[in-house]
Amino acid sequence: MSPTVAIEKCNNYEDAEVYNAVKKAVDLLGGINSFVKKGEKILIKPNLLSAAHSDSAITTHPSIVRAAIKLVKEAGAFPVVGDSPGIGSAQKVSAKCGILDVCKQEDVPLIELKQSVEIENPKGRTFKRFELAKEALDVDGIINLPKLKTHTQMFMTLGVKNMFGCVVGKRKPQWHLAAGSNREHFARMLIDLYLFLKPRLNIVDGIVGLEGEGPGSSGKPRHLGLVVASGDAIAMDRVIIDIVNARLDDLITCKVARDDSLGETDLANIEVMGKTIESVRIKDFVFPKVVGMGFSLPYNLDKHLKKHLTAKPFINKKTCTLCNMCVNICPPGIMKEIKNKIEIDYDNCIRCFCCQEICPEGAITVKEGFLMKLLLK
Ligand code: SF4
Ligand code: SF4
Repeated sequence: MSPTVAIEKCNNYEDAEVYNAVKKAVDLLGGINSFVKKGEKILIKPNLLSAAHSDSAITTHPSIVRAAIKLVKEAGAFPVVGDSPGIGSAQKVSAKCGILDVCKQEDVPLIELKQSVEIENPKGRTFKRFELAKEALDVDGIINLPKLKTHTQMFMTLGVKNMFGCVVGKRKPQWHLAAGSNREHFARMLIDLYLFLKPRLNIVDGIVGLEGEGPGSSGKPRHLGLVVASGDAIAMDRVIIDIVNARLDDLITCKVARDDSLGETDLANIEVMGKTIESVRIKDFVFPKVVGMGFSLPYNLDKHLKKHLTAKPFINKKTCTLCNMCVNICPPGIMKEIKNKIEIDYDNCIRCFCCQEICPEGAITVKEGFLMKLLLK
């Protein structure tokens, strides 16, 4: 059966308008009762990347979370909201972005995804074992609420990537390291994870998205006025990639899904409901400078050549506040504060860009290696 994706317009974050748009989209897909059954415990999983105000478009907006809570309650099920931010607690991040207030007002628990357990995944193409948050496994189903954002490593972070939040925060860097520096391998791992957790419903907050050098504070909020929903995040991500006028191959998870036949990525086989893609297309969405060749360079390539070919993180000393969040998250532990400056051991940097993702000041940018710049001229 063809996967269906619903597109609705919503111009602002007024609770009533967001609820109407989300409900309309979910109704087009068959209504909330086709995703959630009475009495079930449902985890609502927003993107809680880091502690930032909701205006910064780094986290899923609280009004989208509220709409999802209301729908789950209407189905007679029991919602809980949870995530595992890269740094900081779900409590702290959700307090800053307003989701904690929504949970209190709606009398819904906000839980920390914190207990890492090992699971077998025999169908996995990358790892046959994963470490996932027990709290995400102890529910009857998941509703995935990604934010529409750019991502300097993966091009964009949408439905599939948002499920990486079910890996406990402190374990994420290890999985980056384990997946290695190959983008496709990392994307394959994300798809494995998504297919294992298989959220029942995915609702993307694209009312205000993040363009440019996302997914953190280096990106720029951009009003898009969109809510996109589907029971199938691979098909949904494919539709969004078309809406923002990008190519399928640009979104590495979509490319891997197509190459490995892991989901439907052919638009001709995806049923789009509500608004048409053409009517909501964004022709001038600003994409990030995706970290390119470093991911696919041979491991044994001369390290000096590699250093000059690959993009690298660069710290702007003027905006860096020495908070050390990057130092704490760096998977191989090669960042250090030395004499009031963050130093990076570039020889051992795996170019994962976790540091850029987490920096609250937008002080880390991506610089192309000078040989690559010459090649690209
Ligand atoms: S670069 Fe960013 S994350 Fe790192 S210490 Fe400076 S402000 Fe903090
Ligand atoms: S310095 Fe940044 S890009 Fe390099 S390994 Fe550390 S977190 Fe990853």
